[in-house]
Amino acid sequence: MRRWNGWGEEGVEAPLPDRARDLLVQLVGAGSPTVDAGLEDVVASVPPSRLVAEDAWTTDARDRVLHARGQSLPDWVALRSGRLERVPDAVARPTSAAEVRAVLDRAAARGARVIPYGGATSVVGGVTVRPGEAPIVSVDLVGTAGIRSLDETSGLATFGAGTTGPALEAALEPFGRTLGHYPQSFERSTVGGWVVTRSAGQESSGVGRIEALFAGGHVEAPVGPLDLPTHPASAAGPDLRQLVLGSEGRLGILTDVAVRTSLVPQASRVNAFVMRDWDAALALARTLAQRRLLLSMVRVATPLETATTLALVGDGRSQAMLRRYLGWRGLGPDRERCLVLVGLSGATPVVDAAAGEVAKAVKALHGIGTPGVGRAWRRDRFKAPNLRDTLWAAGYAVDTLETAIDWSGLPALAAELGRTLRHGLEDVDERVHAFSHLSHVYPTGTSLYSTYVFRISPDPDETLDRWRRLKRAASEVVVSHGGTISHQHGVGTDHAPYLAAEKGPLGMVALDAVVHAFDPDGLLSPGVLLGERA
Ligand SMILES: Cc1cc2nc3c(=O)[nH]c(=O)nc-3n(C[C@H](O)[C@H](O)[C@H](O)COP(=O)(O)OP(=O)(O)OC[C@H]3O[C@@H](n4cnc5c(N)ncnc54)[C@H](O)[C@@H]3O)c2cc1C
Repeated sequence: MRRWNGWGEEGVEAPLPDRARDLLVQLVGAGSPTVDAGLEDVVASVPPSRLVAEDAWTTDARDRVLHARGQSLPDWVALRSGRLERVPDAVARPTSAAEVRAVLDRAAARGARVIPYGGATSVVGGVTVRPGEAPIVSVDLVGTAGIRSLDETSGLATFGAGTTGPALEAALEPFGRTLGHYPQSFERSTVGGWVVTRSAGQESSGVGRIEALFAGGHVEAPVGPLDLPTHPASAAGPDLRQLVLGSEGRLGILTDVAVRTSLVPQASRVNAFVMRDWDAALALARTLAQRRLLLSMVRVATPLETATTLALVGDGRSQAMLRRYLGWRGLGPDRERCLVLVGLSGATPVVDAAAGEVAKAVKALHGIGTPGVGRAWRRDRFKAPNLRDTLWAAGYAVDTLETAIDWSGLPALAAELGRTLRHGLEDVDERVHAFSHLSHVYPTGTSLYSTYVFRISPDPDETLDRWRRLKRAASEVVVSHGGTISHQHGVGTDHAPYLAAEKGPLGMVALDAVVHAFDPDGLLSPGVLLGERA
């Protein structure tokens, strides 16, 4: 059973090797574990619903607690401490577009607000129920899950928006087809959630981000329905799919999602390399991206992330052997090395040819292949988030933030972001371990994905204050360097204050107007995307 207040399965602990624990104690200090609130106690303390139960929704207290929060750090603090502030007043589970319509109409008639709820993996406060006057209905799309149709000739498949990653791939597999969209939250997030948050999968360099895979579908907006046809391409004015992509539930509820599938690739693999330092790793990433080789992934860890990753995986002996081998091959000092993962996917001869080109580029920059590391990464790629549970239990909070920037702006942004996070809690006498990788590279630039670890305080407000200081300082650095406030996690409520810096005054007026056209009375997702302004 899934944990109600974390990420992984109940009772399944991701092991934290002793040397990783020692490293954390050395870097941020000994963690002091806190006691989690129990689900039953939280349920018992929930205030009565401001709505009455009806056909369209339930007001069951347990259901309401389980729909109150997502996966952001403030969500975790609230769930672990049992201080939820607010829970929805009702939970609806419509199974079709018609039922979604009925819920919207009923909520509007009752003066309630609606929060669409997919897999609740939002890490930016997208599904968080926040204080406010109006009652809240959480619309859980789980009831829409499943494949609706498959046009094998065109490769188009239509799914209910609440279909999770594994269910979607399982439905395509018997037809020899795949979507190939693998965000790290793949096991829990939904196809509808991917579209409205503009999600990026780990192998998006090959198949494209969700923008490229989203062919069309159906939206129920407060003012009425919107159908998006699945034309392969069109010059008929602005593409309305682009309004729905990134709309984060503000325009309407996406009920049906048509996606562009492809044939399951003949060959798929991840090759790992170690480069002598950050400059060599960056040069490799740029070369691979700009040569437009058919790669599904290029992922480049900074020296600090490389050291942290290696401390977390494998046993001490195999680590020592790998280090000796790299030293013997003349790969420079341990602390400067960078791990690069390259994904290859497609027809076998094409994959082989691309692998050969990658190997040549690595060799030209004096890097070394490390067989086995890529395979292990692929095998465990959805397990890493389980460590968040383990670290919390050991007294440490982990959060991530991400951006994208042109290549020319990357070095300065990466350096200042790292410094800002590492020194961000000095005035409260706390230390932060922060490290980064490039998770997606493009010909003209790259994403930058940072993870930061700090100690939890026995006082949940103090933990939240530590997070707020770090998040605010890091977001300001991103914006001041001209990076986007999000490459893949979306805006939610946490990034809403920074959106105007990116879109500009006219851009914000245009977004307000679009939201107003779809949802004139502000029925949907208060505070998400546009903050309090609309
Ligand atoms: C451990 C972890 C790893 C992650 N890794 C990645 C990653 O690799 N790449 C990436 O892109 N993201 C990642 N994320 C972020 C998150 O998984 C994505 O934003 C995902 O697309 C959200 O999908 P969801 O179904 O969980 O949506 P939810 O979290 O349920 O909702 C997200 C937002 O969309 C709205 N919404 C949801 N469904 C609908 C719908 N059908 N119609 C209208 N509005 C809707 C919600 O109201 C909310 O505002 C990760 C998150 C976690 C916790």
